[in-house]
Amino acid sequence: MIRRFEENVPLSGYCTYRIGGKARLVVNVFDFEGLRRVLEIDGKKLVIGRGSKLLFSDNGYDGTVLVMRMERFWFLNGGDGLYSGLPKMYGNGLKFACDKSSDGFGSNILKHGGLRHDEVGVYAESGVFLPTLSRAACKKGLSGLEWAGGIPGTVGGALKMNAGAFGGDMSQVVVCADILREGRLVRLCAEDCGFGYRRSGFYKDDVIIGAVLKLDCSGHRDALGDSVPNESSLAKIELLCSDYAAKRVAAQPSGFSCGSIFKSVSRGKESIPAWRFIDMCGLRGIAVGGAQISPKHANFIVNNGGACAADVLALIRTARAEVFIKNRIVLDEEVICIGEF
Ligand SMILES: Cc1cc2nc3c(=O)[nH]c(=O)nc-3n(C[C@H](O)[C@H](O)[C@H](O)COP(=O)(O)OP(=O)(O)OC[C@H]3O[C@@H](n4cnc5c(N)ncnc54)[C@H](O)[C@@H]3O)c2cc1C
Repeated sequence: MIRRFEENVPLSGYCTYRIGGKARLVVNVFDFEGLRRVLEIDGKKLVIGRGSKLLFSDNGYDGTVLVMRMERFWFLNGGDGLYSGLPKMYGNGLKFACDKSSDGFGSNILKHGGLRHDEVGVYAESGVFLPTLSRAACKKGLSGLEWAGGIPGTVGGALKMNAGAFGGDMSQVVVCADILREGRLVRLCAEDCGFGYRRSGFYKDDVIIGAVLKLDCSGHRDALGDSVPNESSLAKIELLCSDYAAKRVAAQPSGFSCGSIFKSVSRGKESIPAWRFIDMCGLRGIAVGGAQISPKHANFIVNNGGACAADVLALIRTARAEVFIKNRIVLDEEVICIGEF
């Protein structure tokens, strides 16, 4: 199903920055069949989730933007029949392929999503909003996604970016990911997703469809085999979630942004947050047009209203240049710039 097929649409409505020129076409994709139809449209294409890591050019995007709105998820017990039935949902007799040889491991990935009988998890389609998934898992007493509660992106975007916070990230919970690669539905196990710090090894044109994420349940199984959390584990999970939420409110600005602009800098075994270097250069609070290096968090550039992409980019370039001059460090961008700048 494809709903909302819009031409010449401002991309500011499709990203958390609220910035961007027009796209030739924007299509909201709600299921697998709709996705396959949109992929047949000629010209270049960009798949996005919530646009929470994107800076769209003021000149827009001369192609089709596919907004992933496949938003279903199912909690799973290891060995569930449900998982092996999923390929049928994607219709047209499409079969999953798996890059593992038929050594037993590959067939387990295909049938059970790689979950062992005693394990629990969730199958989430790529458009699922991370905070929704994190809350749902927490309510069931399943831990593993507490860190994701405040990340305003989708499962697909989080997989692509290997999003993470508070010591957790996607690579730690992914068991396998389903992608559409060159017209084939392929299931990759975690080690074939090429995860690194805020990056993955998915190919440029891969479309992430969904993933199995492994969760922890410290409770017991009921007569139907469903996991039942105990009171103390539920309370512990809830406490952790509210602790993380409070830390975000205390440290991060609430305006329009894309989260961290630069990646942390690794020095040997140490990882130094980029804001420290930006701060050392005295750049906290400086503004260009409607954009500003946040006075609250120096690695956030916020749109205070009316900012354009060029304003944000000017601040990115200033921060990079000043940090290089002062520290001889080249800051690596986490934000993804789309279109011509
Ligand atoms: C206030 C705020 C706080 C944030 N905090 C954090 C944080 O703590 N940790 C963190 O890691 N990030 C954080 N972010 C950044 C961002 O939310 C994450 O990177 C998120 O995972 C991006 O998801 P998205 O759906 O918005 O992806 P998008 O921004 O839409 O896209 C990101 C990339 O993924 C690709 N993509 C998206 N969906 C698919 C798909 N289905 N198939 C193939 N490719 C796809 C896009 O083409 C693009 O390359 C924050 C952002 C904001 C605004």
